[in-house]
Amino acid sequence: MKNKVDEMIKKIEDGINSLSREEIEERNRKEIENHNRLYEEFENAFKKGICCFCNSKLKEFKNKEPCLHWLLHPEGIKKDNFKREKFFEKYSLQQIESYLRWVANTETFGRNINDLTEEDPNQILQLTINFKELEWSLDCKKMDLEGHPNRRFRRYPHYHLQMRINHQRFIDYTDFHIPLTDQDLVELKITKGGSDKIHHFYGRGTGMKDIMDNFDEELLRATKVTDDYKKATIHTSYKIQAEEGKTIPGKRIVEAIKETKKTGKPFIETFNCENAQISAITSLGEGVPEKAKRKKRKR
Ligand SMILES: [Zn+2]
Ligand SMILES: [Zn+2]
Repeated sequence: MKNKVDEMIKKIEDGINSLSREEIEERNRKEIENHNRLYEEFENAFKKGICCFCNSKLKEFKNKEPCLHWLLHPEGIKKDNFKREKFFEKYSLQQIESYLRWVANTETFGRNINDLTEEDPNQILQLTINFKELEWSLDCKKMDLEGHPNRRFRRYPHYHLQMRINHQRFIDYTDFHIPLTDQDLVELKITKGGSDKIHHFYGRGTGMKDIMDNFDEELLRATKVTDDYKKATIHTSYKIQAEEGKTIPGKRIVEAIKETKKTGKPFIETFNCENAQISAITSLGEGVPEKAKRKKRKR
């Protein structure tokens, strides 16, 4: 299995190596264009309450062909339907993850997707996405990738999904061992840094990881301060230091805070003092969902 994935990655890399710089740029440009077009189609329908894949209402559940909009908990759906109608056999991880990312980003860009990674070699995938009263978490550990060896039926590479509605249980991590496709395994390896030629692009499905990784002074200056901390995307605190032998008048700080309150401009924009050095410390805001960790089962 592992070799097959490596071979697939090598094949893509060889394909890239055979292209010129211009050809690669052209291909990336086209891919982004295509991606944006698909997202817009999805978003236009979504905002009208329509599913762009099956054309039914997002709230409607007709007990027949599974559709990605089932993940939005349409009226009348039960956990059993996911089992009986083999929902998770129909859709790859990639399809499910992209869909949930897109759904989350119809509300606001990035904030609803906590995909920050931890330095844990056993953790292959772990993210929590929320949208209104819904919350989904995807989780794959090394042992899932290898298949649980002591369980007869779960030896295939798989991942787990949890779904909560208004913080109430709907699907538990332990309910499904969802098979990973070869393409999923390739993507997982790439996002884990398995290739220096290929990078994963989430585009309109971008989450907090890419936002935090690329957050710089220019972006900070462009942020808007919110009164509603519960909806904040990024939390910022500042360290102000006077230059040696100089002082910072407290008045300047008070003025800057007032100006920030009035205009919504970030403190770094409103604070003005020639004798001061200012540095910002950023972290995830309160509006970002906390990751739902998978606990070890108690015996
Ligand atoms: Zn649908
Ligand atoms: Zn497992």
